[in-house]
Amino acid sequence: MGFLTALRGDDQRVLKWASGGRREALTGLKLHGRSFRGVDLKGADLTGADLTEASLDEAQLSGTKLVSANLANAKLRKAGARDADFTSADLTCADLGDAYLFGARFRDTNLAGARLPSANLAGADFSNANLHGAYLSGANLAGANLHGADLRDARLEHVHLEGADLTGTGVTPQKLMRRGSELVPCAECGGDGWWTDERTGVTHRCHVCGTRGKVRTGRTTEEPVAFWDDTTKWDAS
Ligand SMILES: [Zn+2]
Repeated sequence: MGFLTALRGDDQRVLKWASGGRREALTGLKLHGRSFRGVDLKGADLTGADLTEASLDEAQLSGTKLVSANLANAKLRKAGARDADFTSADLTCADLGDAYLFGARFRDTNLAGARLPSANLAGADFSNANLHGAYLSGANLAGANLHGADLRDARLEHVHLEGADLTGTGVTPQKLMRRGSELVPCAECGGDGWWTDERTGVTHRCHVCGTRGKVRTGRTTEEPVAFWDDTTKWDAS
């Protein structure tokens, strides 16, 4: 009973802070599973808070301090968290899809298995972060510092890495190449775009004229799965 009362109290302290009582410290609060969807917590100090399985979807977290906070399985979809500080926080399996995290700090942060599809992570600091198995497809990591981050089994399709620092990650341009089958041009119209036939996976249909045919030459192609440029930093290969 006392435990539940304490939980409810911590909840109220956050909502009171958001509605104008902004001087109160919010460090170390017990907020497991609570919903702060869309709540304005810009600049709050939630250092060490227990936010496991909490919902912070669409919350305003610009400049918010979440240092060493426990956000395992938390939801931060579409959260606005520019320059937020997640240093040493636990974001294991958290969902940060479409979140705006420009310049956010994830130094030594555990993001194993986290979902960050289409998140804006430009200029963010992931040095020595654990991104093992994280889903980053479609994310913008331009100018991000990923030095020493664990990117094993991370999904990096269509990720922007222009100007990013990937030294100490083991990720190289070679590892971001995907092998595919070289396709012949359409015999009818010369087009080189083909829809895959969902039923057979072997025959294809021309994007332009709809002609069906077997289109693989037997040769393979290599195409990059992500985007980078001359300013991206890699380990010397
Ligand atoms: Zn055609």
